[in-house]
Amino acid sequence: MIQDKEKVLKSYFGYDAFRPGQNEVISRVLSATNTLAVMPTGGGKSICYQIPGLILDGTAIIISPLISLMKDQVDSLVALGISATFINSSLTNSEQDSRMEEIVKGQYKFVYVAPERFESQTFINTMKQLNISLVAFDEAHCISQWGHDFRPSYRSIVPNLKKLGNIPVFMALTATATEEVIADIQTLLQIEAQHVINTGFARENLTFHIIKGRDRFSFIRSYLEDHLDDSGIIYTATRKQADAIYEQLLKRGVNVAKYHAGMSENERKEEQAAFIHDEKQVMIATNAFGMGIDKSNVRYVIHYAMPMNIESYYQEAGRAGRDGENSDCILLFSPQDIQLQKFLIERSLMDENAKQNEYRKLQAMVNYCHTQSCLHTYILDYFNDSSEHINCGRCSNCVSKTEKTDITEEAQMILSCVKRMGERFGVSMTAKVLKGSSDKKLKEFQLHNLTTYGLLSTYTEKEITEKIHFLIAEQLLATEEGKYPTLKLNKNSIDVLKGSRTVEMYMVSIPTTEEDDYYKDLFDALRQLRKKLADEQNVPPYVLFSDVTLKELSRYFPE
Ligand code: ADP
Ligand code: MG
Ligand code: ZN
Repeated sequence: MIQDKEKVLKSYFGYDAFRPGQNEVISRVLSATNTLAVMPTGGGKSICYQIPGLILDGTAIIISPLISLMKDQVDSLVALGISATFINSSLTNSEQDSRMEEIVKGQYKFVYVAPERFESQTFINTMKQLNISLVAFDEAHCISQWGHDFRPSYRSIVPNLKKLGNIPVFMALTATATEEVIADIQTLLQIEAQHVINTGFARENLTFHIIKGRDRFSFIRSYLEDHLDDSGIIYTATRKQADAIYEQLLKRGVNVAKYHAGMSENERKEEQAAFIHDEKQVMIATNAFGMGIDKSNVRYVIHYAMPMNIESYYQEAGRAGRDGENSDCILLFSPQDIQLQKFLIERSLMDENAKQNEYRKLQAMVNYCHTQSCLHTYILDYFNDSSEHINCGRCSNCVSKTEKTDITEEAQMILSCVKRMGERFGVSMTAKVLKGSSDKKLKEFQLHNLTTYGLLSTYTEKEITEKIHFLIAEQLLATEEGKYPTLKLNKNSIDVLKGSRTVEMYMVSIPTTEEDDYYKDLFDALRQLRKKLADEQNVPPYVLFSDVTLKELSRYFPE
């Protein structure tokens, strides 16, 4: 019996109308066209494979990276009266065998499978016997090595499946799609450009905020006091940070849950369930938490530290407001975050090219924290969202109350200093020269003789750094990509230097001390290790992340 897709939407799911993109995706899949759906988190991607799966003859195979979510997804289908099951490593061998038998008999319309299953030849052989309606890759950015959650086991699945010859149509679904990820998925699944349904990224109900120059923990405390009844997520950069914030909030009587890769699978499961079912109100987690989770009433997502790139940030922040209600996405920025992220990239197992790519993405994230134009627009531009952007009028930049200050003169001093330093140094050295710092490094490079030395000595080094970052974010100054990005002048810099362009900036006060034990630990550890290195090997002490320090530091910050 062929059913029409609107009827299925109403009768199974109870919805009256498709959301943007859903109809287009479903029509293509029904006519056996490989399709990529790019929709924001909460946009309704599941229905894009569930409706064709219900209409088409046979079993739909959903390849999903997160075992912990499969059961939830299966349960919610079963609750709607739809036959569904999953196959993953949480089942015993005999459970897997009996489920496979049922699957082969065609007892299920939907089967969720972890990518790793396809490494087994027996599994592939069983797939051959199935009457398959479609194969869907959920969270498809995991396929791409450019995606931020790359899973190597994904890459071999497609060639293996194609050999089977019994798969009528492939589809891929993701909320993350930079050009390179889209191109990668297209190549792998042979999806033509007109079958990439990209609904754009705008989430009108999210309000973005950057908070800097405040003690982060006290910000969280006062924010939570104003949001006593709301459910929210606080993301940290590392497990250690998550543990610390969790303990502190627990002590203050907040009903908190915790989730990171250092906890046992059982603990994680319990904490996740308690949060999803509103038994615990605030989730403190690393980025291990959240992929694919469908909790609709998350009112805020706070990033305790700046994440590695805009892709991760938007995906994590986008877990707020899936029900369409107004929600906050808050990023607490501190300059040390940049160093921490560089450290995490440097320590990762990526090859040199991939690292360079990560540094480039990190720079865009740093720019987001320093731009003074609309944050929403910044994000949409980053994803090349083609729709027209007007300033959101709600983000922390759009509503900034402070008066802008003319900093053209300061900008000219910074730019000419960059020029005089030969465009060979990064942000921190430039700030030191302008401050007139007595740091030994300056002598070493003969920088203390420059005419720009000490030109901005009335400002603190932090304030100078902030201005340099601002100039980069506003594209009045360029950076050469890499681990230690060097500053370069661009066309806009020349305009500023010639005086044909003025520069205005909202001033933020930067506290001189960071009341953050976590970072104190990190930098104490670094200082000690550098000293040790310098003594042992007679290397200059400012070599920050050499191989030795990396290895040593990994002990402090296990991932
Ligand atoms: P994601 O794109 O993040 O995978 P989901 O598929 O989990 O999003 O859907 C998010 C929420 O939106 C779910 O609660 C889902 O039931 C709901 N939803 C999906 N499609 C529609 C629709 N056409 N009308 C109303 N709600 C919908
Ligand atoms: Mg989903
Ligand atoms: Zn705005």
